[in-house]
Amino acid sequence: MTDTIKIHVLHTGLVKVDKALPFHGLYRNPLAFTGLVRSEANQVTLPVSSYLIEHPKGLVLIDTGWNKLVRTSNWRELGPQVQINTAYLPAGWAIDERLAALGYRPQDLDYVLLSHLHCDHVSGLKHVAAAKHILVSEPEWRVANRLPLVYLPHEWRGVNVQTYRYAQARVGPTGEAYDVFGDDRVLQVHTAGHATGMSATLARGGDGRYVLLAADVGYANRSWEEMLTPGICTNRKAAITSLGWVREMAHDPNCIEALANHNTTTDPHVITLTY
Ligand SMILES: [Zn+2]
Repeated sequence: MTDTIKIHVLHTGLVKVDKALPFHGLYRNPLAFTGLVRSEANQVTLPVSSYLIEHPKGLVLIDTGWNKLVRTSNWRELGPQVQINTAYLPAGWAIDERLAALGYRPQDLDYVLLSHLHCDHVSGLKHVAAAKHILVSEPEWRVANRLPLVYLPHEWRGVNVQTYRYAQARVGPTGEAYDVFGDDRVLQVHTAGHATGMSATLARGGDGRYVLLAADVGYANRSWEEMLTPGICTNRKAAITSLGWVREMAHDPNCIEALANHNTTTDPHVITLTY
């Protein structure tokens, strides 16, 4: 038993998208995020983050980055979605390669928690399919298997994905969360808007200080400073509510760090909380 919670911020890919995808409202063309009829000058390349949490009760991975297949063919992994995302995965950046560098094998993972099932978060899932539990929220699972144009179900085909239900938790924009270890320290907080069942991860230390891994509630930390929701949203109103919650959490003095998954100025690093 250790008396700390350690969070490794990992980069498990890069994604090139139209500038309008991260920041809705900054660009006038309502379909700009698709990248269709938009030039290379409108493209930005962002990191794709995953997070490894070493908790006294188990090892948790949040999201999985890109599959190694994108190194040879974006088309085979993404199909028509290459219109929206171009994937890059430098050598050593795949999630299983990142884990190996830290001395872990996929089967050492107690939980893989998927914030949501968009391709840049779940593409690498097959590299960690040997994990003991792979979990996503029930509402996200339901929607993702019904919208094959927005999601890529082949990315989880053949993988044993289980679902959890959000419960009343007095935290988050809707007051709903899933407590992973039942100790109130690692919570998957329901943050709908960008994706229906999306969760942000709230990691809390024994001293009340916390780290918020905000998934795609905002693409960058700038998103909650300027209240810019992502270009892709299933529910814009819910997205603004979720972003407002992240903003308040990020500005709280007890917040050690709030991290947007695709923030360009976030480098890989380690954060330690007291358990
Ligand atoms: Zn997303």
